This record gives sequence, structure tokens and C-alpha cells, in this order.
Amino acid sequence: MMSKKIFAIVFLLILFGPTFTENSAMGQNNQQQSYCPQTVEKKYCHKVIIIGAGMAGLGAANELKSNGFDALILESSPAKLVGGRVITENDSRTHYIPIDLHASEIAGTIGNPITELAQKYNSSILQTWNNYTYYDHKGLIGNPQISNNLNNVWSKFTKWLHVYRIGKTEDESLQIAINKFNDTLGENDKKSFSYDVSSYIGNTYADDAKYLSLLYWDKIGYIVGGPSGTISVFANGFASIPEHLASDLGNGSIQYNTLVTKISYGQNGVQIDTKGGPSYYGKYVICTIPTYLLQGDHPSITFDPALPQNKTDAINKMLMGTLTQTYILFNKTAMPANFWNSTTDYVSYVPPMTETGHWTLFMNLYKTKHQPLLLAWNYGDYARQMLTEPEYQIKQEMSNVFKIMNGSNNFDTKSITILYKGAKYDYSTSPIGFKVPNDFDMLASPVADNNGTNRVFFAGEATTWHYPATTDGAFLTGLREANRVMVTDTGKYPNPLEQENNWRYPPDPNGKHTWLTFPEYVMCKPGHTLVLKNDAEKTPMCVNPDIVESLFDKHLIINPTLP
Ligand SMILES: Cc1cc2nc3c(=O)[nH]c(=O)nc-3n(C[C@H](O)[C@H](O)[C@H](O)COP(=O)(O)OP(=O)(O)OC[C@H]3O[C@@H](n4cnc5c(N)ncnc54)[C@H](O)[C@@H]3O)c2cc1C
Repeated sequence: MMSKKIFAIVFLLILFGPTFTENSAMGQNNQQQSYCPQTVEKKYCHKVIIIGAGMAGLGAANELKSNGFDALILESSPAKLVGGRVITENDSRTHYIPIDLHASEIAGTIGNPITELAQKYNSSILQTWNNYTYYDHKGLIGNPQISNNLNNVWSKFTKWLHVYRIGKTEDESLQIAINKFNDTLGENDKKSFSYDVSSYIGNTYADDAKYLSLLYWDKIGYIVGGPSGTISVFANGFASIPEHLASDLGNGSIQYNTLVTKISYGQNGVQIDTKGGPSYYGKYVICTIPTYLLQGDHPSITFDPALPQNKTDAINKMLMGTLTQTYILFNKTAMPANFWNSTTDYVSYVPPMTETGHWTLFMNLYKTKHQPLLLAWNYGDYARQMLTEPEYQIKQEMSNVFKIMNGSNNFDTKSITILYKGAKYDYSTSPIGFKVPNDFDMLASPVADNNGTNRVFFAGEATTWHYPATTDGAFLTGLREANRVMVTDTGKYPNPLEQENNWRYPPDPNGKHTWLTFPEYVMCKPGHTLVLKNDAEKTPMCVNPDIVESLFDKHLIINPTLP
């Protein structure tokens, strides 16, 4: 006969028992799970609830699905609209040219998981990088001279900055250093430096240097893509990637039109409340929404219990930069072959320092779209101002630059049509006082219930300092958090060797790899750290951190988390 004590334990196990051994597919489980209240229909219960169907959410869902985990994505957008900040539009507003409203480039083609996805899904991509045409206030200028000088001045600045930062522990605005270095330059170099600041800082970090961190702005990595760092664009639009990822998940894996408003978590799991809709229940939740939606006194999702203070502080410290993308279609009869030709990748305007950030970089989309189409980037305060301006004024401002480039005062604004000019809050950047990697790690850290079990996980472009602000970074954070959930759920830490092929690119049957993606989603047991043997194979191991330093001494080990 069962003793009262054993009966009570069995009863509790039935009611709240863990389901570590289950291996249910995406979709419904056959039995009611501990995290699913008895009165709730099974369709509202999934082991892992993922919020957001951007690259991070889709990456997480695919990783969980391929490991037999039950997961559901809740997405606020209307049906079939996946991809978040990856949107391609192709309708009368874009003159039926497929244009990418936000993410448009694969930043670093070789070894980039997005390149791999493009190959898997047969999405046509074209590398674009080498061929620049430069203009300044006098019109066209010779490419080799100007590009050499741009590189020389930039290289001088990075060396100067290294020395300037020595001994500084208090962060300050990067602009202070820029001004000091600029004072050391002659007039010609000042112009080159002005372009460098626009192109390498503003257009990359999506904000003015005055808002960026002196100490950390360049400590974050952007390019996954191996030594060449080449950039590629999609002939028919980036959105084909999230669309394929979503369709791989199968029907019913994404609940559209579902705006999440609250996440409650505790020892029984998580409850996700939605606006005007049902609540969903799960054992874990992965939140992938953009950081700015979690900032301030009225975040769009509230947490119960509230997130730990250090997590909230990191969220509020993060800065979302603004990068406008303006697509400019030229009238076919006024085809601008006189100031750029069809083989040019980028058309660049080297502005005076006073105009940093205004119309300096244009991508020639004639190569990919076979239309006289330029894509212009503007960032920071000027970009935010642009978003409030009427279209005729924007045309006027850009045509001032076109007049100079075209070598004519008669540039007719009627010969251009603006197809799209961008939106606010684009992607995370590195503001003053935001520490790398600490604050990024805090954004990525999961939150546990009061029993110490992780329940709320965070993925998305702002949760990685290796590749923030990119589609590839977002995708990899989804894989990372899916793996963290699986490790939490099963208690099993996969042998890093078993996961190797997931993060060596390209996966080559002959065992030769051109690039190694940081395997930040390979989890080691608590108290262990991932290291790679410093040999040709870069064998991964999880080791006790106490011995890492001694291994370094013997030059046997490199730590993949070091930049
Ligand atoms: C102008 C611009 C240019 C860029 N250029 C590039 C580039 O060239 N190359 C590159 O690699 N990257 C680029 N990026 C960055 C890239 O687009 C992002 O890093 C990446 O797409 C972010 O993916 P994510 O999954 O983290 O977030 P998102 O794509 O923002 O996904 C989050 C999802 O959550 C949903 N959501 C939000 N709130 C809720 C809620 N309460 N309930 C339910 N769902 C919700 C959203 O609808 C969205 O679908 C660019 C971004 C911008 C804005």
C-alpha cells in the first residue's frame, strides 16, 4: 500500500512534475503539462513561448523544433508578416522594385549564417563592396588618391585613439576625442576624416559620435564574415530569409496579431498575457522584442515579478540609434550615368566636417535591381530631423549634394522619386557608459524564478556584443537562447565537439573551414568556460576557468569570448 508521504509525492509529481524526458514535436502535446492550468485549452500551452518573429525569434523556434521541442511564436504583426526589422516591399509604392526597408546587406558574406541560409533557400545574393566612386565639393575626385588618404587618416586616428584612451577609466563622449584628433590635421586630412567619421562611425553605429562611448564603441564586433568582410545584397529582397524560416516551422507555429503585454513567471512556469486575446502558458519564454520597447516607465511588456534592477538598468542604458534608408529612383530619361555608372558599388560624397552625416554614402542598386536606384544612409540627429521633414524638403537637401556630384547647378528634383525614407529607433548602439561586454551580457542574461530555475530568456540584436545590430547577430542569439532553454530543461550540456559543425563556416565535407563563428550558444556547465585549443582544428572544450590562465601561458588555448 502506498504510504501517505509517497502518495503525496506522486500526486505532486502528477500536478507539477517536470517533463525532462519528453520529446514532443512543435505543436500540441498529448498530455496536460505541469505549466498548463487544468482549465486552459491545450492550444494555449506550449513548452516554450517565443515573443517576436524577427530573425532572433525565428532562429530560436527553428533550433527548438529541430531538437523536438514544443514552441509557439507570438507575433504582433498581421498574418504572414514575419521578419520584424527585415521587411521587403514590392508594390506600387516601390514601383514594383523589391526594396529592403531596414536590413539590406549581409554584413560580411563569408562565414555568415545569413549567407548559409540564402544558399539553403536559393535566394539570389550579389556581393558588392570594392568599387567606390568618390566626390567632394569640387565634383568627381580620383578614387585611388582619395581612398588611400581616407584609409591613412583612419589608421592614424585609431592609433591616436589607442594612446588617448590609455589610463582613462571614466567614459566620455567619443566626439571629444574626434574633435581633439581633428585639431591635429591639415585641411585635406580634415576632409578625409570627416568622411571617415560619417562612414565608419555614423553609418555603422547609427548615431552621432557625441552620443557614443569613447571607451567601448569599437569593442563590439559587427562582421561575422571572415577576413574579406565583403558585403552582399539580395536581388529579390532580404525578406525571403525570414519567410523561409517561418515556413520551415510549419503551419500553426506562429500566432499572428498577438501583442504580448505581460509576462508572469514563477515555479510553475510562465503566463503570457496578450492585448484583447487569451493568455498563453509555457514552461519558458524567450523574449526577442526590440530593447527600446522594454525601456522607460511604460514598457510595452511588463514583468511580474519585476525584472532584477541590474537587468532593468542595462535595458534603460542601451541607446537605439537612427539610420534612415532613403531609396531614390531616378527618372529613366534622366538616367544619371553622367555621375555614376552601372558598375559602381557605392557612390560617396566627402563632405566638409560641418556636414558630417548628411548624404555621404549611396549604394548603387542598378547592379542588383537593374533600375536607376540609389540607397542613401543618414544617421543620428540629422536622420531624426529628416523623419519630420516633408518630402520636398528632403529632395531639396539631397539635391544640393547631387548638384555637386553631377557637376551642374540644374539638378531637377522632378527627376527623382523617393520610395522610402526610414523609421525611428533602428538598432542598438554603444552609448556613453554602456560597458562592453558587461552590459550586453546583462541584456542577454536569463531571469530565474525564486527557485533558481531560469524562466525568462532574452534574445535579439541587442543581446550580443559579438555581432549586435545585425540580422546574423539576432539569428545567432535565437540559437543561443534555444540552446540555453534546452540545457535548462534537460540538464544535459552537449559536448562542444558534438556542436562543432554548427559553428564552423562554411561546413566543409573535407574538414576545411574558412571561418569560425563565435560559438556563444554552446553552453558549458555552470562554473566552466568554453575555450578553443589554439591549433589548426581549434578544438572546443569546456574547462574550469581557474585553469584558463595557465593554459594561456602555455599558448595552448584561445578563449572564444575574447575579441
Ligand atoms: C535601418 C536599418 C538598417 C539595417 N541594416 C542592416 C543590414 O544591412 N544588415 C544587417 O544584418 N542588419 C541590419 N539591420 C539590423 C537588423 O535589421 C536587426 O538587427 C535584426 O533584424 C533584428 O532582429 P530581432 O529578431 O532582434 O528583432 P526584430 O526584427 O525587431 O523582431 C522583433 C519582433 O517582435 C515583434 N514584437 C514587438 N513587440 C511585440 C509584442 N509586444 N508582442 C508580440 N510581438 C512583438 C515585432 O513585430 C518583430 O517582428 C538594420 C536595421 C535597421 C533598422
